[in-house]
Amino acid sequence: MKDSSKPELNMEKIVSLARRRGFIFPSSEIYGGLSSCWDYGPLGAEMKRNVKDAWWKAMVHDRDDMVGLDSAIIMHPKVWEASGHLSGFSDPLVDCMDCKQRFRADFIDSKTCPDCSGELTQPRQFNLMFKTFMGPVEDNASIAYLRPETAQGIFVNFANVLNTSRKKLPFGIAQIGKAFRNEITTGNFIFRSREFEQMEIEYFVKPGDDEKLFNYWLEERLSWFTSLGIRKDNLRLRQHQKDELAHYARDCYDIEYYFPMGWSELEGIANRTDFDLKQHSLHSGNELTYFDEETKKHIVPYVIEPSSGVDRTVLALLCDAYDEEPDKNDTRTVLRLHPSISPYKVAILPLSRKEPVVNIARDVYAKLRRFFSTSYDDAQSIGRRYRRQDEIGTPYCVTIDFDTIEDKCATVRDRDSMRQLRIPVEALMTTLQAKLNGEPFEVLPPGGKHWLGF
Ligand code: ATP
Repeated sequence: MKDSSKPELNMEKIVSLARRRGFIFPSSEIYGGLSSCWDYGPLGAEMKRNVKDAWWKAMVHDRDDMVGLDSAIIMHPKVWEASGHLSGFSDPLVDCMDCKQRFRADFIDSKTCPDCSGELTQPRQFNLMFKTFMGPVEDNASIAYLRPETAQGIFVNFANVLNTSRKKLPFGIAQIGKAFRNEITTGNFIFRSREFEQMEIEYFVKPGDDEKLFNYWLEERLSWFTSLGIRKDNLRLRQHQKDELAHYARDCYDIEYYFPMGWSELEGIANRTDFDLKQHSLHSGNELTYFDEETKKHIVPYVIEPSSGVDRTVLALLCDAYDEEPDKNDTRTVLRLHPSISPYKVAILPLSRKEPVVNIARDVYAKLRRFFSTSYDDAQSIGRRYRRQDEIGTPYCVTIDFDTIEDKCATVRDRDSMRQLRIPVEALMTTLQAKLNGEPFEVLPPGGKHWLGF
């Protein structure tokens, strides 16, 4: 069932807001753009960073069974031989013999061209890896690949991490980084692009514990998305059918989000068994095992892999947060982003550009920005400024006005309820911090009067 309170959303609205407000631009736009590549603008860069920080905090810093890694994008070409990407990382490609367009065979239903009904070629496998050359000579010996996933950087560093971190099973290695796939068909904005970012975990477990921990990770990852405010209704788990499973995978689920184009993959969670470590042992000649103190035996751990996309998470968050509501004779567009994801947590809005209001506002701005990403906006009417902040998802606006000079209070406005309260300037920091952390706020102002009741 879908959440009926959510307005029908088309992707155009998201693309338009993202462009208009500086979240996401087409790449190399002044040259006409580059198909399926995107640049994150000032607000998008903040938002994307917030997503990655939230993931790193929850998956690495808050856990004692996880460590991080940042491996190189270009790896030894043998890595891709061992992982199976050279021989098998391909999608079926068909060409239209009339209009010459190319399609992913598994993405089209008809036996003819979806655009011109022309005849299609037989499907042939197209390798998705980007090829390049290392060094000055462009020959077969210098071929290298841009990684199509971050996971292999983790597997090849298994022994390094194990020896230096001395972790015991089960433990995980987490990595965030760019990945590149020469996708046949791209589209749906940042959902499918050729350059994107992944957040991946390889969680090493004792064989036999894999099923239990696989189920644990399904729940863990789903609840991470809901902790960022994504509606439960818009998320679902979909188990892969037997014929969809990679040959090494024992089980795999996709976490799907209800994007404007329908249910689509946000994250894949797979039980990869001991396939990867065994393959790299075989191809490198280095034994990648774990010494089990209990049985005094070397074992090859199994791997549970939650593999998520940063860009798809950003897109899901934008879609989920987007809201339009009637406001007087107009429509208010609000991004109801979770505060941890909002590009700005607070906006300082002075009602005058003259002293002393501007001095107070500048002073508040200087103090708050040390603790939260804060914006300062003194252009146009206060109503328009509120609208602007609503549209980019700023949870709180602080207005400094002429009364502030006398009563030393500022107006704090809540994005979602639009309620406004006067709060002593000296209490802004603690008040906003508590609100943004979602903590119950019980500090009283001097004199004991309540000012918080959002
Ligand atoms: P799809 O079936 O949509 O092509 P996939 O199953 O190939 O995706 P995985 O290999 O499981 O994807 O990659 C893990 C995650 O990386 C995906 O869940 C997605 O969030 C992200 N991802 C993969 N390909 C792309 C892409 N071309 N653009 C943006 N994100 C991607």
